[in-house]
Amino acid sequence: MKNLWNDAEAAKCSDDLDLRVYSSQLLGQDKSLVLHGGGNTSVKIEQENILGETETLLYIKGSGWDLETIQRPGFAPVRLDHLVKLAALPALSDPQMVNELKTHMTDAAAPAPSIETILHAILPYKFVDHTHADTIVTITNTPNGLKHIREIFGDELVIIPYVMPGFDLARVCAEEFRKQGNDRTTGMVLMNHGLFSFADSAKESYDRMIKLVTWAEDFLKEKKAWELENHKRKNKPGVSNNPVVEGLAKFRADISQAAGLPMILQTQQDENTLAFANRKDCSVITQQGPATPDHVIRTKRLPMLGRDIDKYVSAYKKYFKQHSKNSKEPMTMLDPAPRIILDPEFGLSTAGRSAKDAMINNELYLHTMDIIQRSTKLESFQALPSQDIFEVEYWDLEQAKLRKGGKPPVFTGEIALVTGAASGIGKACVAALLNKGAAVVGIDLNADVVTMHDRVDYRGFVCDVTDEEKMASVLAEITLAYGGLDMLILNAGIFPGGANIAEMDMSEWRKVLEVNLTSGLQLMHLAYPLLKLAPNKGRVVIIGSKNVAAPGPGASAYSASKAALNQLMRIAALEWGVDGIRINSLHPDAVFDTGIWTPEVIAARAASYGMTIDEYKQRNVMKVEITSKDVAALAAEMCGPLFAKTTAAQVPVDGGDVRVI
Ligand code: ZN
Repeated sequence: MKNLWNDAEAAKCSDDLDLRVYSSQLLGQDKSLVLHGGGNTSVKIEQENILGETETLLYIKGSGWDLETIQRPGFAPVRLDHLVKLAALPALSDPQMVNELKTHMTDAAAPAPSIETILHAILPYKFVDHTHADTIVTITNTPNGLKHIREIFGDELVIIPYVMPGFDLARVCAEEFRKQGNDRTTGMVLMNHGLFSFADSAKESYDRMIKLVTWAEDFLKEKKAWELENHKRKNKPGVSNNPVVEGLAKFRADISQAAGLPMILQTQQDENTLAFANRKDCSVITQQGPATPDHVIRTKRLPMLGRDIDKYVSAYKKYFKQHSKNSKEPMTMLDPAPRIILDPEFGLSTAGRSAKDAMINNELYLHTMDIIQRSTKLESFQALPSQDIFEVEYWDLEQAKLRKGGKPPVFTGEIALVTGAASGIGKACVAALLNKGAAVVGIDLNADVVTMHDRVDYRGFVCDVTDEEKMASVLAEITLAYGGLDMLILNAGIFPGGANIAEMDMSEWRKVLEVNLTSGLQLMHLAYPLLKLAPNKGRVVIIGSKNVAAPGPGASAYSASKAALNQLMRIAALEWGVDGIRINSLHPDAVFDTGIWTPEVIAARAASYGMTIDEYKQRNVMKVEITSKDVAALAAEMCGPLFAKTTAAQVPVDGGDVRVI
């Protein structure tokens, strides 16, 4: 394991909290140490309060922060004195503990202190580093885990049996630290959980963490349990035009049904995951439990093997019934849908309520696969008893979080595709749909579409909408990335400079029809199998034009193509109603912040109506300006519950046009 400490960088730190930020980020950079909010760090600092009294504060990582990107405000200052006194109590419930931590902070705006705060407080060192190192989890998840740990670390580490994080764990650690600690102690290993290192300087504490994990790595190497076969990893789901695409969309529909809500399904098919899913012992090694209880809230206790959802759901219900019967409080069962799915053909699929959730679950399981394979090589993979896992999954703090959780945005778990997405109305539609919680895919000829948003719930593809093969492969990519398609916004269109019929250039006419009309039909045709499987039923929005109802001279190709597209919308409504797919169109006019409206086009259109440019721009009865954002808001609304029982509607967004009215 590489030590990333850099003296020159560290010298730039102005105080202990800065150093704490610096070395926390170093830990966070190594995903095999901490992953997605896992792990935490602290520093004890003496400070003068508003009364001029000196007190020691424990600055501990707050919830919602990742070590990799943590900054000073990510550390919550809690009065150390109070924490040490709490540690001496015989018992403290988790909600009581959370309350004590919150009420003894000295900064009301700080994030909630970590659940492991009291544990940090009882360790008599200035700097405390805690990771969930994969190697430690690998070694402790074996039948002789404790023996291996003793062999590796001798008496340099205090060894803590598995106890669920919270007050009890802090108490056990305090007790064991008193019993096992000595002047050679540099850290503490928590079975099936992770590792602590500590020291009076940031550097030494960090160095110790790296040293201890390196010893564990060396042990695995020595036991020939480190190298993994088939270890080629492509992080991007790479197979385009995959024959399993429809199977995946159907599978996502089934998972969404089991969850009771639309889910995103991310699928990874590379040599490593496929080899793992095809291992002969896959049904044995994957069914022991998660690598650490820490993961269970996201990944569920066990991955699903194959595609038999009903079997998985009934097994989950049985597991809940069996383990919840001892609880004093009545418990609410979480949705029984799987989060991790291994299938010999699909590879690794991960489900989540959002694209981010699915991505995090994917990363967690990629690490889990390494852990399981190495544990199996060392000895055999043995997770904690399922009751321990259950207690973390149904922790009262987690249950409270669920009860508290507000209503998510309306399109959470759904996927939308927007054509002509790099500018104007299309770009605004992408933003509106992202705001409403959807994962969005944008298509455009303009390469800006790729870099427009840098987030896991957005993907952009440079693609000509008339290219059938390319469009089919984009749909395949979407299905691998997110699991299918729920909403389609047909926006791509061109408006060449006006030409009267007498002067029409026939190649221009054909091009306009190809882009504005035929590509729409083609994409609807290609997307139908996916839209049909949408958990909340598919929705299509056609960006039409005022010209459909009120054509203008000199715009025959544009007006005719939009009118024909409108007719296509009406036919699709008739054909697809039975599948619950709704299709509506909106007719904007005079939206000048779009790619179509170059100054030349505006001038030409104004001239064709015998108006000045200013007259032309304000010619609606309300004298209002229509923006891309206005049109996008309506397009998104048409996909939402307000239009749940409306299909084949045509709604103008034009400020009132005398000819349309
Ligand atoms: Zn931990």
